[in-house]
Amino acid sequence: MSAGLDLSDTRALLSAAAKAVIANKDRLTKADQDIGDGDHGVGMARGFAAFDEATAVQYDSIPDLFRGCGKALMMASGGASGVVFGTLFQGAGKSVKSDVFDAEALVHALEGGLMAVQDRGKANVGDKTMVDALAPAAIAARKALVPGASVEDVAEVAAKAAAAGMEATRGLVAKIGKSKGLGERTVGFVDPGALTTSILLESIADTLRNRAR
Ligand code: ADP
Ligand code: MG
Repeated sequence: MSAGLDLSDTRALLSAAAKAVIANKDRLTKADQDIGDGDHGVGMARGFAAFDEATAVQYDSIPDLFRGCGKALMMASGGASGVVFGTLFQGAGKSVKSDVFDAEALVHALEGGLMAVQDRGKANVGDKTMVDALAPAAIAARKALVPGASVEDVAEVAAKAAAAGMEATRGLVAKIGKSKGLGERTVGFVDPGALTTSILLESIADTLRNRAR
């Protein structure tokens, strides 16, 4: 099935993604204890609980839904990641123009989200942040956007690229944020925000795969 999602299905998609992050709270805490201050799990769980509640608000359009959820996340979650992930969804909302969440909209969401995050946080690829999962996902999704590509196909490709990017952060030295001060000692550990990004995209791909069956 290659048709896109309507507003109601997009709410459900985002709600499931928020719940997936919340379910992984302990894993995210552990990741941030390894190379940060340990607050990533708690901050993301709090932020995505507010995000999940926002998916039920009566927005008029898919862009408004993305923006509203991003804002709720940003306001509820402290730390750098509240701003970063809030910005991701707000940037995605600016770029999703259609009222159908289809393959093209997913590519626009990833590219717009990435641009907004980099604009705000100034992290480059290789700095060991969530950008190292998001950027490869956006690039792979764009490549997968061939004529007739379904949203589930594109999501699958994006999720795989995000997971590979997240795993590859083990080899990187942190150049930004709280982990920066640990320098070489961050090598061998996954970046917490990259893990959150991978969990979000994995959930989106799962939801779409199950819907397509
Ligand atoms: P804090 O660093 O304030 O304790 P968290 O622990 O919740 O916040 O989140 C840390 C994660 O946020 C990092 O693993 C990284 O992926 C992401 N992050 C931090 N700063 C930036 C930035 N400038 N750009 C992109 N991502 C960032
Ligand atoms: Mg932290």
